[in-house]
Amino acid sequence: MSAAGNILIIGAGPAGTRAAEVLTGHGLRPILVDEAPDSGGQIYRRQPPGFKRSAKLRYGFEAKKAEALHACFDGLRTRIDYCSDTSVWSIENKTAFTMGPNGVDRIPFETLLLCTGGVDRVLPIPGWTLPGVYTMGGSQIALKAQGCAIGRRVVFMGSGPLLYLVSYQYAHAGGTVAAVLDTARLSDALPVIPGLLMGAFTLAKGLWYQNWMRFNGIAIRRGIRPVAAEGDDRLTGLRYLTAAGRERHVACDALAIGWGVKPECQLAELAGCDMAFDAMARQWLPVCDAEGRASAEGVYLAGDGAGVMGADAAEYRGELAALALLADRGISAGAARRRHLKGRLRRLMRFRVALERALPYPEGLAAALPDDTIICRCEGVTAGDIRRGQSLEPQEINRAKAFTRTGMGRCQGRMCGIAAAEILAHHKGVPLSEVGRLRGQAPIKPLHIGIAGEAAEDDPERASSI
Ligand SMILES: Cc1cc2nc3c(=O)[nH]c(=O)nc-3n(C[C@H](O)[C@H](O)[C@H](O)COP(=O)(O)OP(=O)(O)OC[C@H]3O[C@@H](n4cnc5c(N)ncnc54)[C@H](O)[C@@H]3O)c2cc1C
Repeated sequence: MSAAGNILIIGAGPAGTRAAEVLTGHGLRPILVDEAPDSGGQIYRRQPPGFKRSAKLRYGFEAKKAEALHACFDGLRTRIDYCSDTSVWSIENKTAFTMGPNGVDRIPFETLLLCTGGVDRVLPIPGWTLPGVYTMGGSQIALKAQGCAIGRRVVFMGSGPLLYLVSYQYAHAGGTVAAVLDTARLSDALPVIPGLLMGAFTLAKGLWYQNWMRFNGIAIRRGIRPVAAEGDDRLTGLRYLTAAGRERHVACDALAIGWGVKPECQLAELAGCDMAFDAMARQWLPVCDAEGRASAEGVYLAGDGAGVMGADAAEYRGELAALALLADRGISAGAARRRHLKGRLRRLMRFRVALERALPYPEGLAAALPDDTIICRCEGVTAGDIRRGQSLEPQEINRAKAFTRTGMGRCQGRMCGIAAAEILAHHKGVPLSEVGRLRGQAPIKPLHIGIAGEAAEDDPERASSI
């Protein structure tokens, strides 16, 4: 395939769909790659063939938006080159390396639009590797995609909007929710009420979920601190400290944990985008301007992959980045619309900032984890290993990786990287920004052994990095 003029979009969620809509509307034919079997992204994930639950049942208040986005995508199918079930595992020299139903392939491009979304922000706790412990998003995917619950008696713990949404969805679907445990305190929200009102509808939905659960007898506790997930060979309960510091135990056979969403930005890094530390998100994000232009030439970013702002913002940012791309190609494209979208995004950003303060990531929790807590599940590295591995070395997370193998396994640090950096920064007594980030490295997603061999044969020079 020739790269001449090729526009490659990675991600068929709200951002990627709206970007493709704009480009096709101007007579262009982008290639769109997504590792999911169908479009919709995380929030508007579609159900597998043969499942017949209504949109209302799956998406609740968001049913109309989900249907509109699905209809938009379905109308685009003949006007784009769509590769579903296809993961991009590396980007190098304006070429995306993919793995799909027909094995490995390469897609050369001239312009890249990254709409890769986010993934659960996870904080390890003692016992989190026991069977029965899931991420918040994973527990929602089971329910949303396939109508399955992760257990018979489920505890939801963490913070962020998904905590209340997913626990409500389980209870509403007939599941037994043993408790909803929030590490945020009510007092966190009080100073930011004006900002929260910028997203009045989202705020109202969150309050409605909580009230519905309280009315139905579900315990909601705020300001808690997790102690440990317990069980011998599988989860039987969770110990935690109440806001008043009293230890409590709640019996459960499944636990969903999550502290919001973090951007998937390894591909942006591999595409050569500059990264900068974002104090609010407490992580490194790809740099881009207000319309989504990244620092690397010909690369645009949109949606949660460029910084988490939610699904409505993802649609606006997808449209905006595509309009910017067109303008950069000299195609006159909706200057007024771009101004309008930027205005809406500024408003949503004020809401986003308030939400982050109202339901904050619990600073200090990872740093205080006992030495024997597993941090990197793939390589079995504990908090103590990270602390010990760094006692003589400079405070840099990639050195910790080299010494301890943290983040060297299948997930490439996507799950453990944030906690490992927090532990390291605390141990060294330096700000989080100073320990750096785990550098994105191919393959960013696990490759089957057979496929890795195929990729190596295809390009022997790259074999050692696979
Ligand atoms: C598990 C989960 C559940 C969520 N549930 C809700 C919810 O119920 N309600 C809500 O308001 N918000 C929810 N959110 C947040 C919401 O999904 C996002 O705000 C919104 O979907 C962002 O849209 P997006 O287009 O930026 O990304 P997404 O919708 O995440 O879409 C990104 C797409 O990129 C694809 N992709 C990523 N990396 C690759 C790769 N390397 N190769 C190929 N394809 C790739 C993914 O398969 C995905 O389809 C959830 C987030 C997560 C992570």
